[in-house]
Amino acid sequence: MLSSTFVASEDPAARGYGRYANPTWEDFESALGTLEGGTAVTFASGMAAVSAVVEVALARRRATGDAAPAGAAREAGPGAAPVVVVPTAAYNTTLALLDELAAADRITVRRVDVTDAEAVTAALDGAALLWLESPTNPMLEVADVAACCAAARRHGATAVVDSTFATPLRQLPLALGADVVVHSATKLLAGHSDVLLGAAVTADPDLAAALRRHRTVHGAVPGPWEVWLALRGLRTVHLRVDRAEASARELAQRLRGHRAVERVRYPGWGTMVSVEVRGGAQAADRVVAGVALWVPATSLGGVESTLERRRRHAAEPPVVPESLVRLSVGVEDVEDLWADLRAALDDAAG
Ligand code: PLP
Repeated sequence: MLSSTFVASEDPAARGYGRYANPTWEDFESALGTLEGGTAVTFASGMAAVSAVVEVALARRRATGDAAPAGAAREAGPGAAPVVVVPTAAYNTTLALLDELAAADRITVRRVDVTDAEAVTAALDGAALLWLESPTNPMLEVADVAACCAAARRHGATAVVDSTFATPLRQLPLALGADVVVHSATKLLAGHSDVLLGAAVTADPDLAAALRRHRTVHGAVPGPWEVWLALRGLRTVHLRVDRAEASARELAQRLRGHRAVERVRYPGWGTMVSVEVRGGAQAADRVVAGVALWVPATSLGGVESTLERRRRHAAEPPVVPESLVRLSVGVEDVEDLWADLRAALDDAAG
């Protein structure tokens, strides 16, 4: 509803003011919460949701610090910065946020290979927060979410999963033991590259209340129009994901057979494919410059197919190969997508 305020009422459940509540947020939150199996809280962007979840998890550790398992308290020591375990490569701005907190001595970051549940478990000793992203952006690495979340629980760490690439149609982190699921709803959930939006979902009523309070106090509230568009996009998310995933699977297979391609990263499901192009950054740039139907652009999860060489961003973690081109597969005809991509790859191969 396009309203910044609501008729005053003595009813304690009344919405009051547009930074506290909005009926359109509630509709979107109800739909996403039903899909994920928890209570959803929507934010102005995916990063607003990421930031709120990190702060709420850190506040939770401060509040329950004494109750943390003995190992955790011993290792971190009283007054030590809480440990946050994060993937070696994940969405670069999430990593930048955590690095900023570390630079301010508010946290200590431990980076791990999220495909190795034993390494994740070992890194959780003394940790306050496990930040998983699965599949990861842009390496498309998949974590054993259930094993990692179970380990986080044993260590008294809050377990968070950024499930943007999976959507609730392909992965339900809360059912796998996560405390919070995070989404950049900008991507597949809204689905049309016309909205910036985020969400956090949890089955813990205290965490949900803390996230809402954080949104109200810090003000990272979404516009009702954006949320309405996301709600409309959500009506077709199953159709879009099914179609894009079928094309992504087919493209991944064909890409494996192309001489310009050194390696294809595709987890076997989902709408994202990353390819490492033979010949390094230059060859990869030629592929991106050579397409006509695919759109060279950042972001992902829209109805139109997009691609980009991720290391063109200075903030991208150096473990991401220079030659890696991330493909976000949309809903166009798969033969048209392949013909366009193959021509660009043929050209790059010389
Ligand atoms: N998480 C992942 C995995 C992303 O890919 C992104 C954006 O690309 C974000 C979070 C941040 O979302 P937003 O751009 O909506 O702030």
